[in-house]
Amino acid sequence: MLSADVHGPVMPDGTPAAPRVPSFFGLTRPALAARLEGLGLPPYRAAQLYSWVYRKHRRDPETMTNLPRSLRPRLHEVCELELPRTASVHASRDALTHKFVLTLADQARVECVSMRSERRLTYCISSQAGCALACAFCATGLMGLKRNLRAEEIVAQAFIMQEWNGWRDARFNLVFMGMGEPLVNYGPVMDAVRVIHDPLGLDVGARRITVSTCGIVPQMDRLAEEGLPLGLAVSLHATTDALRDRLVPVNKRFPLGQLIPAARRYGERTGRRVTLEYTLLAGVNDSREDADRLATIARDLPSKINLIPYNPVPGLPWKRPSAESVQAFAERLYPQAPAVTVRNTLGGEIWAACGQLGGLSPGA
Ligand code: SAH
Repeated sequence: MLSADVHGPVMPDGTPAAPRVPSFFGLTRPALAARLEGLGLPPYRAAQLYSWVYRKHRRDPETMTNLPRSLRPRLHEVCELELPRTASVHASRDALTHKFVLTLADQARVECVSMRSERRLTYCISSQAGCALACAFCATGLMGLKRNLRAEEIVAQAFIMQEWNGWRDARFNLVFMGMGEPLVNYGPVMDAVRVIHDPLGLDVGARRITVSTCGIVPQMDRLAEEGLPLGLAVSLHATTDALRDRLVPVNKRFPLGQLIPAARRYGERTGRRVTLEYTLLAGVNDSREDADRLATIARDLPSKINLIPYNPVPGLPWKRPSAESVQAFAERLYPQAPAVTVRNTLGGEIWAACGQLGGLSPGA
């Protein structure tokens, strides 16, 4: 087994400290240029390296023909081009959804999901191994936080899924809706976003990237100031503080009276409608009164509502409402609320659906 001495010291939050030679996948283009310069190499090589790896999908320096022969063997001093190991890939019966389990250098495991529909390809990626926020109905919440992911471990998820797809799709959407709370691992998540967004990187438009948060208010404000119109999804799930305190415990720190204005500020600052995610739990948050309160919140906000019928988690008591009650809830919202969609649940049978990531595997 790889031990801590191979990977150097560990940070207080459990993340392995930066390796001596940084990973290519965690370096934004300016950071890579600075690294090259620091080693006495021309910074413009950063663009060449980006384009070899992200545009031409080459990772062997010997094949990078516009780099001088003398530089190629030295590249491993500049950055490392290794990717985490793919421990397993689980396909849904219709083969449109795949869950990937990756093993990181310190043996931490992380999961990400590729979802294909007729109209689009979406990658759902993780920002932490586990999660500290303990939402009452979420499988990842049950695990607790193992550690934050480093930027390269976040970028690698998208890279590995694209590679697995044979780079067939030039365009894809990326959602930070896997394991973890992206806004509490802010720096690495933003570095990863910049690499993924870079036109010489994975070239994903800001509008195709969505960060989902359970409502870390100060970081929502910080995100609004990044100058990138990223999609923001807020895991609302309840319309009263009494219920939200139970379902999403971070509500005790950032109650609805702070969360909703922060969502409004984000929408106003970026010009984007915020998505309100609302997981429907039978008999808990699916009454007519809940629908009416949700519609009121949504009406006063540049927003759209995304209903997620609950995906059961073994050991937890919550139940998914019947298809009829989901329909009735959606109809009660519309047309009071401006836009309502019901999330098509994909990947349930491979434990890849919302809130099912973390330790469960098919047949378990
Ligand atoms: N921590 C972030 C990212 C997770 S996104 C956040 O809270 O937004 C995953 C979404 O699925 C969140 O809205 C989450 O609350 C919801 N979810 C969690 N468990 C679920 C489950 N079992 N069924 C349906 N939705 C669930």
